[in-house]
Amino acid sequence: MFSFETILCHDSEHQYERAVVPPIFQNSLFSFADWDAIDKAFESRHKSYIYSRGKNPTVDFAEKKLSEITHSDRTILFTSGMAAISAAILYCVKPNSHIIAVKNVYGPTSNFMTNYLREKLNIETTYISGENLDDYRDNVRKNTSLIYLESPSSIVFSLQDLESVALIAKENNIKTICDNTWATPLFQHPLDLGIDIEVHSVSKYLGGHSDLVAGAIMGNNKDMGELFVKEYEWLGGKISPFEAWLLIRSLRTLPIRMQRHQENAMKIALFLEEHSKIELVRYPGLPSFPQYHLGKKQMSGYSGLLSFRLKTNDIAKIKTFYNALKMFHKGVSWGGFESLVYAPAISYMKELSPDQFSNMGISFGDIRISVGLENAKDLMNDLNEALKMI
Ligand SMILES: *Cc1c(COP(=O)(O)O)cnc(C)c1O
Repeated sequence: MFSFETILCHDSEHQYERAVVPPIFQNSLFSFADWDAIDKAFESRHKSYIYSRGKNPTVDFAEKKLSEITHSDRTILFTSGMAAISAAILYCVKPNSHIIAVKNVYGPTSNFMTNYLREKLNIETTYISGENLDDYRDNVRKNTSLIYLESPSSIVFSLQDLESVALIAKENNIKTICDNTWATPLFQHPLDLGIDIEVHSVSKYLGGHSDLVAGAIMGNNKDMGELFVKEYEWLGGKISPFEAWLLIRSLRTLPIRMQRHQENAMKIALFLEEHSKIELVRYPGLPSFPQYHLGKKQMSGYSGLLSFRLKTNDIAKIKTFYNALKMFHKGVSWGGFESLVYAPAISYMKELSPDQFSNMGISFGDIRISVGLENAKDLMNDLNEALKMI
């Protein structure tokens, strides 16, 4: 078994004319020598190259690497994180079933469950904090078919004890999905801890260069084989060969990028924690983080997304601070090479009532930053200068 760095750099795809970078198979279909050959391909359609809505060699290269680093039997790449997540959820539910989900889950994921599945399939979702194991046990119903996790979540970084939740789910014959976007397959292995299905927004660290949108699902052969012929091929949310190719490029530097994201984020988290104008910093790598020990137990490192709360609640001052940042681009998403800043209040105020907002553990003064690959001192100076303005 090779280590991550070797798997991600050593391209088995050298088989094509020994090119060091694999070709992009930008073809919609594959042709066959004769009747028997095409007949044979259809016998194992989820393993054969027939049509690029199904399998494509460039996509395969990327999927194989992701399977190795997630310790999964199989990976399926999708056109976006949400295409992967909605397909994975649909695979685990049926009409009138019930979902248990963590309340700080990614917004569109929760909208999909609460609004779409409820309306179309009469599926009810119960939201729990996810931090106490009894919350899971107490909410299991006869028709519960899925426990949906996101650990850490991406604004308050709430963790779930993946191994224990997987056990509770297995006892009750319930499937588990974990969104592992924050930790990446480098720092956390949900499948090794007993989770059935791992999902990712590949648009974040796995892509890492802010130039692609994609998603992924990992799991065992049985689940992935079924999901491939149904939710993947029928809903049709396939990744394009070009984006898969960009992803192969990105994966070569994933370990080195994550190492730098982690170092920079830790320096900045410590700096912010000491600052007199900051009330609290949320970063699972900080010893002061409430679930620090659980994080240490189930993750081997921390990525670069963190949040902090300004002491002021004055929206004018919060805006002044936000606008004064020069190194941090203002925008959504995260996980790229460039540092970003976002205030959850901007979008949440439009979508949530003040009660829902505070129920999620968020307040006006909360600022989220995605710490990029720049020099940490430059980033700290930028934060420091902006903090002087308020
Ligand atoms: C961005 C994100 C998603 C959705 O991924 P897209 O690629 O934008 O569709 C899902 N989960 C988490 C935690 C995310 O941050």
